[in-house]
Amino acid sequence: MKMTPVKGVILRYSDFKEADRMLTILTPNKGKIQVLARGCRRQNSRFLSASELFSYCDYMIFKFRDIYILTGADINDLFFDIRSDLDKFAYGTYILNLAEISANPEEGSYPLFHLLLYSLTMLAYSRMHPEDIANIYQTKLADILGYRPQLEICIYCGKPVKDVEGFSTVDSGIFCSDCYNGRKNGYNINMGTVRAMRYILDTDLDALKNLKFNPKVRDEISFIMAEYLSKHLEKYIRARSFIEKLGL
Ligand SMILES: [Zn+2]
Repeated sequence: MKMTPVKGVILRYSDFKEADRMLTILTPNKGKIQVLARGCRRQNSRFLSASELFSYCDYMIFKFRDIYILTGADINDLFFDIRSDLDKFAYGTYILNLAEISANPEEGSYPLFHLLLYSLTMLAYSRMHPEDIANIYQTKLADILGYRPQLEICIYCGKPVKDVEGFSTVDSGIFCSDCYNGRKNGYNINMGTVRAMRYILDTDLDALKNLKFNPKVRDEISFIMAEYLSKHLEKYIRARSFIEKLGL
């Protein structure tokens, strides 16, 4: 039996039998994996905390037929601060959900893992607005997945955009007022929002730590990036409806 150590964050789980749980874990080197945690819901289980949403651990797993079985877990961070605050929890689960949709099974991606860990750490321990953290996550995620939107020149005429008219999720970028002909796939966007998104894309994560956007920019990035990612990922982002229900 060959044990494998992996770092990972729990993205999702489903309970079954009396006390078992199937964990979906994001790892840097194996991508998204399914791991069976036997008996982890018992109060005395050594895997109890390591099997919760957001938990970031060094796991020990071994492969049995098509699935991995959990055999050990050293906790790095449980991110209690996310789980104990409703706003943080809502945006945190949205981020986990996006990470799950974006990751491929058995296909490692260090940038995807690093972005997730960075975002959860900011959510738990910084004073940043949870929605700003989710917006940075969404914008950087699009870039990592190869869907970096065009925010410098007009996607239709190719001229530099000084006065933006709209953002097209279908054609992946902004267009100018000359090219506006009631295009059905465009959303309104302000130049301040375009500049904020450019800044997020062009700046290293570590330098984005103290960002604060004004509410209008925050709302626009939130809406446009959620629409943009849903379009490109072609899957419904479940946690979005949770945030909308809360009216955050
Ligand atoms: Zn144009």
